[in-house]
Amino acid sequence: MLAVFLLFCYHTCRKILDSEEVLYDILIIGAGVSGLSAALAAAEKGLSVLILTKGSRPDGSSNYAQGGIATVSSPKDSFQLHISDTLEAGDGLCKKEQVAILTKNGPATIRKLVEWGVQFTVSHKNETDGIPFDLHLEGGHSCKRILHAADLTGKEMMRALLLQVKKEKNIEFLENRFVRDLIISKRGSASHCDGAVVIHQKSGKASAIYAKSTILATGGAGRLWLHTTNPADSAGDGMAVAARAGVALQDIEFMQFHPTSLYAPALKKSFLISEAVRGFGGILKNHAGEEFMNGVHPLRSLAPRDIVARAIQREMVRTGKPNMFLDITAKPAKDIKTHFPNIFAKCLETGIDITREWIPVVPSAHYMCGGVLVDSWSRTRISGLYACGEVAATGVHGANRLASNSLLESVVFALRAVKDISKHPAPDFIPQKITLEDISVSGGELWKKKKNELRKMMWEHCGIVRTTKSLETGLEQIKVLEKQCLEALRKPGQKTLTLLEFQNAVQNSGMIIENALRRKESRGLHCIINYPNRSKTAKHYNAFLKAPLKK
Ligand SMILES: Cc1cc2nc3c(=O)[nH]c(=O)nc-3n(C[C@H](O)[C@H](O)[C@H](O)COP(=O)(O)OP(=O)(O)OC[C@H]3O[C@@H](n4cnc5c(N)ncnc54)[C@H](O)[C@@H]3O)c2cc1C
Repeated sequence: MLAVFLLFCYHTCRKILDSEEVLYDILIIGAGVSGLSAALAAAEKGLSVLILTKGSRPDGSSNYAQGGIATVSSPKDSFQLHISDTLEAGDGLCKKEQVAILTKNGPATIRKLVEWGVQFTVSHKNETDGIPFDLHLEGGHSCKRILHAADLTGKEMMRALLLQVKKEKNIEFLENRFVRDLIISKRGSASHCDGAVVIHQKSGKASAIYAKSTILATGGAGRLWLHTTNPADSAGDGMAVAARAGVALQDIEFMQFHPTSLYAPALKKSFLISEAVRGFGGILKNHAGEEFMNGVHPLRSLAPRDIVARAIQREMVRTGKPNMFLDITAKPAKDIKTHFPNIFAKCLETGIDITREWIPVVPSAHYMCGGVLVDSWSRTRISGLYACGEVAATGVHGANRLASNSLLESVVFALRAVKDISKHPAPDFIPQKITLEDISVSGGELWKKKKNELRKMMWEHCGIVRTTKSLETGLEQIKVLEKQCLEALRKPGQKTLTLLEFQNAVQNSGMIIENALRRKESRGLHCIINYPNRSKTAKHYNAFLKAPLKK
């Protein structure tokens, strides 16, 4: 399967590399579920598409999504229930019209995914809309609503979408392309996005790719924190790129910390223990076996993520232990293995048989609720520039995301972006020559080290529980790093890929901390000890780059 995909990529790469200045209808930056869905929808409308991805294979968060995709499909459920659960989780900050769009487009979006070949786990118990899906329950949902493909939902979606993309003649695909910046031109008094400057990750060669419309689908920013469930590509590049182009970022102080990633210090990559395990009956316990969620929230272990993450952290501090436990042993072993084959196998690899032993867990940075500010058609304020998926701030998550709403959001708003593009096609234009600077792909170890220090700082100063003082200390450190970064960028011949990635990380971290300082209340995922209460009025805060680190 991978070999077929790589062969496909090789052929498409050759086609592009031979002629650099093609004008595409749509340039899609990112090949997760949002980028791929947008590409397929665009190709169906006869538009020419180029997809870029940073790594050597599509390796954003989509591949790792386990739990599933929320949508109304049971007769016991309703749009109103899905809306009210989403608003409840969002703690007063969701944009209601966007939430209605999300939920009401759910069933049609699932039908589209099935048409593209996604195979969700079926059950003979739930006869729904002609498609008998098995439904899971997750924290914050008032009924079973989560469609899934065993516990590898993201992998299955990516498998099907990539296969479908491979069949489309209108879609070209380039790997190992790091998008450095957007190309913005003036058309009258308005700004328009003409494409992007891209660096080949292996050679360091810079090139310009031009398109009538550009969709940012670069995923989340969990890698800005030391402990994270996110893969390496989820570094928030799209947010930094958009901010340098002058687009506002909104709600970026709301990083969702997943309460239960596997605590296994020997593991190189962190591994998520899906919320569905708690939905299935998993109970949180401390080292003494006490159910510490009793008395914290009426839903106990199934309370919303932010409440659980904070309770786990509090209990870790109180008991001085590096982790807590999730106990699923009361359930029949056969059922555990059927519902969670991937989690069962991964835990067994680390020596834990989850049918007989408790799972050690810790919280980790998981999902960026905010991002690039867009409207209900995924449009940014720059014409021709769209954003969808985790990089976008549609406003559906408010101050806290309801579990499994993000895969749905990724596809619903990707399809809306394409609908808008095909309804209002941007005119052809003659690409202007721009100055391109190749960079070095080797060296830059110093910046890698500094990036890890920055991630540690974000964990300590802008983590699950914040204080004004810790945020201010973090911001002071950012200012020092910003200066070092700027000096290095100005020195001729010093530009390395690691420095450019570090620049993105510094810019994003600075904007996140500034937004966190602006929010003088505790709401949803933003818990700040100096302001323990929620203020009466719900406000969104926008972050801008004051002094873009351009050169
Ligand atoms: C472990 C885990 C489990 C999850 N489980 C669920 C779940 O059960 N249900 C749910 O709804 N959500 C879940 N989520 C969240 C969900 O997976 C993501 O929000 C969603 O997949 C994001 O999709 P995306 O297309 O926006 O981005 P991604 O899938 O992250 O893709 C981003 C793409 O952008 C590319 N990219 C990034 N930067 C650059 C750059 N500078 N240049 C070029 N390309 C770039 C990457 O290479 C990648 O191809 C989970 C997330 C994680 C990490």
